[in-house]
Amino acid sequence: MLSDYHIHSDCSGDGKSPMRAQIAESLKKGVKKLCFTEHVDIGVLDGLFDTDLALYARVFEDARRAYPDLPLFMGLELGFVPEQILDLLGRCAALPLDFHLLSVHLVNGIDPYDQELFFKDKTRDQAAAEYLQTVLASVRDFPDYDAVAHIGYVFKFTGDRFPPLRHEDAPDVLDEILKIIIQKGKALELNTSRWKGEGMPGWDLFDRYRELGGELVTLGSDSHHVSTVAKGFPEAVEALKAKGFRYLATYEQRRLVPEAL
Ligand SMILES: [Zn+2]
Ligand SMILES: [Zn+2]
Repeated sequence: MLSDYHIHSDCSGDGKSPMRAQIAESLKKGVKKLCFTEHVDIGVLDGLFDTDLALYARVFEDARRAYPDLPLFMGLELGFVPEQILDLLGRCAALPLDFHLLSVHLVNGIDPYDQELFFKDKTRDQAAAEYLQTVLASVRDFPDYDAVAHIGYVFKFTGDRFPPLRHEDAPDVLDEILKIIIQKGKALELNTSRWKGEGMPGWDLFDRYRELGGELVTLGSDSHHVSTVAKGFPEAVEALKAKGFRYLATYEQRRLVPEAL
């Protein structure tokens, strides 16, 4: 069964399509279970990516009434910043959430989306190391999450200039990150927003995750617009099965509900 546990509506500052449109398109693509994960990115670009939580709650209830038979869940994508852990937890407490998706967008105050600024005077290795230290801090120090979003985000926008993150780029720190995720019983997200036969992270990281004993994987389109809903999903699911993953991790009222693949 296909589930999408990373999708945005225009409640998120950078979301482009209304929630009901995202749901209608997901159903068309065969997604049977859906969890919205609107952004909480405190202080990024004057709140550009942040979400009005009261508005989110209203829009969500409206969508739930419009689709009473759809398993529809409410989550947040929590943009980790070491100094903001308490603020982030405070935002989480404001809503009856089903799912906490931990993510890293800001690396020492800069989003790698701003390539000119972030990659100025940095080699690929330096950029990866700086990013991974923040990811490590997030999985280690954030006390209340279910899954870890888009590891490899640092090279999401760099195209051919810097190819995607690989396990061999930083095996020690990546192993440390994966081991913490496994030990804490959290899930690793397969993010298909830039799907090219593989997502974020790449298959090599999922292979390593399996080797280390990882079993929990969430699937997320990270779609901000109807045109990218469920991108790559059929292929992604077949590949996960072939790698020996038996189910997708989904969450209801913060409890793990495995859905057989
Ligand atoms: Zn994100
Ligand atoms: Zn997202």
